[in-house]
Amino acid sequence: MTDLRSTLPARALAARDMAYAPYSKFRVGSALLTADGTVYTGCNVENASYGGAICAERTAVVKAVSEGHQKFTAIAVASDLTTFCSPCGICRQFMSEFGTDLEVIMVTTDGQTSIHTLDSLLPYSFGPKDL
Ligand SMILES: [Zn+2]
Repeated sequence: MTDLRSTLPARALAARDMAYAPYSKFRVGSALLTADGTVYTGCNVENASYGGAICAERTAVVKAVSEGHQKFTAIAVASDLTTFCSPCGICRQFMSEFGTDLEVIMVTTDGQTSIHTLDSLLPYSFGPKDL
């Protein structure tokens, strides 16, 4: 059986190639592993109305939720940076809706990884527990 988690960095890098980023030229890809062993990839999709853009992480989460998944174990995020690409604040909040124990794997262009929990990236988060 393939260790799906170990495939996430490469899948995020591959998903990055699908990015639609004609304005920023900043391509990002993600690969999200669900608790039941499904992987959803995502890329950033920009818009001429700049505020309409969506990040790679949220693309993957939206794809997964729309297919019936709400429990996630890990997400890898990759860009064209040789340094680690960290999820933006909106994505941290968006992902925290489904659990702050999510493993966030930041990936460089040459495949190095830096691993964090979402809780460490978004401490004292506001979420479903607060409502
Ligand atoms: Zn983002």
